[in-house]
Amino acid sequence: MQLSYYCRSCKKKNYISSKANNRFELQAQFGDEINNRCSHCGTFEKKHINRLIAEPSKFIGLFCFGLAILLSGAVFILGFIATLTFTIPIYIYFNAQKRASDFNKVMISRK
Ligand SMILES: [Zn+2]
Repeated sequence: MQLSYYCRSCKKKNYISSKANNRFELQAQFGDEINNRCSHCGTFEKKHINRLIAEPSKFIGLFCFGLAILLSGAVFILGFIATLTFTIPIYIYFNAQKRASDFNKVMISRK
Protein backbone atom coordinates (compact mmCIF):
# COMPACT_ATOMS: atom_id res chain seq x y z
CA MET A 1 0.00 0.00 0.00
CA GLN A 2 1.18 3.48 -0.74
CA LEU A 3 0.85 6.45 1.55
CA SER A 4 0.75 9.89 0.06
CA TYR A 5 0.90 13.52 1.11
CA TYR A 6 1.16 16.85 -0.63
CA CYS A 7 4.36 18.82 -0.26
CA ARG A 8 3.83 22.13 1.53
CA SER A 9 6.32 23.89 -0.66
CA CYS A 10 5.66 22.72 -4.23
CA LYS A 11 2.19 21.13 -3.69
CA LYS A 12 3.19 17.98 -5.49
CA LYS A 13 2.31 14.54 -4.30
CA ASN A 14 4.86 12.41 -2.53
CA TYR A 15 4.63 8.71 -1.87
CA ILE A 16 5.86 6.67 1.03
CA SER A 17 5.58 2.94 0.82
CA SER A 18 4.74 1.09 3.98
CA LYS A 19 3.54 -2.30 5.02
CA ALA A 20 1.45 -0.82 7.83
CA ASN A 21 -2.25 -1.69 7.72
CA ASN A 22 -3.31 1.23 9.89
CA ARG A 23 -1.98 4.35 11.54
CA PHE A 24 -1.21 2.51 14.78
CA GLU A 25 1.26 0.28 12.98
CA LEU A 26 2.65 3.31 11.24
CA GLN A 27 3.04 5.07 14.57
CA ALA A 28 4.94 2.10 15.95
CA GLN A 29 7.21 2.25 12.93
CA PHE A 30 7.83 5.99 12.56
CA GLY A 31 6.43 7.69 15.66
CA ASP A 32 3.83 10.47 15.51
CA GLU A 33 5.49 12.25 12.65
CA ILE A 34 7.43 11.17 9.66
CA ASN A 35 10.35 13.05 8.23
CA ASN A 36 10.44 12.98 4.50
CA ARG A 37 12.25 14.84 1.79
CA CYS A 38 10.06 15.91 -1.10
CA SER A 39 11.08 14.00 -4.21
CA HIS A 40 10.17 16.98 -6.41
CA CYS A 41 11.69 20.03 -4.73
CA GLY A 42 13.77 18.52 -1.92
CA THR A 43 11.98 20.30 0.90
CA PHE A 44 12.41 18.46 4.16
CA GLU A 45 9.13 18.19 5.94
CA LYS A 46 7.62 16.69 9.05
CA LYS A 47 4.16 15.29 8.56
CA HIS A 48 1.85 14.03 11.23
CA ILE A 49 0.84 10.50 10.31
CA ASN A 50 -2.85 11.44 10.46
CA ARG A 51 -2.19 13.57 7.41
CA LEU A 52 -0.95 10.70 5.29
CA ILE A 53 -3.50 9.25 2.91
CA ALA A 54 -3.42 5.62 1.87
CA GLU A 55 -3.91 4.62 -1.72
CA PRO A 56 -4.10 1.17 -3.20
CA SER A 57 -1.13 0.53 -5.41
CA LYS A 58 -1.66 1.60 -9.01
CA PHE A 59 -0.54 -1.80 -10.16
CA ILE A 60 -3.35 -3.62 -8.39
CA GLY A 61 -5.93 -2.69 -11.05
CA LEU A 62 -3.62 -3.82 -13.80
CA PHE A 63 -2.69 -6.95 -11.90
CA CYS A 64 -6.33 -7.96 -11.40
CA PHE A 65 -7.12 -7.28 -15.04
CA GLY A 66 -4.21 -9.47 -16.11
CA LEU A 67 -5.26 -12.17 -13.67
CA ALA A 68 -8.81 -12.13 -15.06
CA ILE A 69 -7.51 -12.62 -18.58
CA LEU A 70 -5.16 -15.35 -17.47
CA LEU A 71 -7.89 -17.19 -15.60
CA SER A 72 -10.32 -16.78 -18.49
CA GLY A 73 -7.73 -18.45 -20.68
CA ALA A 74 -7.44 -21.29 -18.20
CA VAL A 75 -11.23 -21.63 -18.15
CA PHE A 76 -11.33 -21.76 -21.90
CA ILE A 77 -8.82 -24.59 -21.99
CA LEU A 78 -9.77 -26.50 -18.85
CA GLY A 79 -13.46 -25.65 -18.55
CA PHE A 80 -13.58 -24.34 -14.98
CA ILE A 81 -16.51 -22.46 -13.58
CA ALA A 82 -16.45 -19.02 -15.17
CA THR A 83 -17.70 -17.07 -12.16
CA LEU A 84 -14.60 -18.01 -10.20
CA THR A 85 -12.32 -16.43 -12.77
CA PHE A 86 -13.98 -13.07 -12.32
CA THR A 87 -14.63 -13.33 -8.61
CA ILE A 88 -10.99 -13.78 -7.62
CA PRO A 89 -9.53 -10.70 -9.38
CA ILE A 90 -12.50 -8.56 -8.33
CA TYR A 91 -12.06 -9.73 -4.77
CA ILE A 92 -8.36 -8.82 -4.78
CA TYR A 93 -9.16 -5.43 -6.27
CA PHE A 94 -11.83 -4.52 -3.74
CA ASN A 95 -9.75 -5.87 -0.90
CA ALA A 96 -6.97 -3.44 -1.83
CA GLN A 97 -9.49 -0.58 -1.97
CA LYS A 98 -10.91 -1.57 1.39
CA ARG A 99 -7.50 -1.74 3.02
CA ALA A 100 -6.77 1.80 1.91
CA SER A 101 -10.12 3.15 3.05
CA ASP A 102 -9.83 1.38 6.41
CA PHE A 103 -6.46 3.01 6.85
CA ASN A 104 -7.88 6.45 6.08
CA LYS A 105 -10.80 6.07 8.48
CA VAL A 106 -8.77 5.41 11.59
CA MET A 107 -6.85 8.30 13.11
CA ILE A 108 -4.49 8.13 16.04
CA SER A 109 -5.12 10.49 18.91
CA ARG A 110 -2.98 13.59 18.89
CA LYS A 111 -1.09 14.41 22.05
ZN1 LIG B 1 8.06 19.65 -2.82
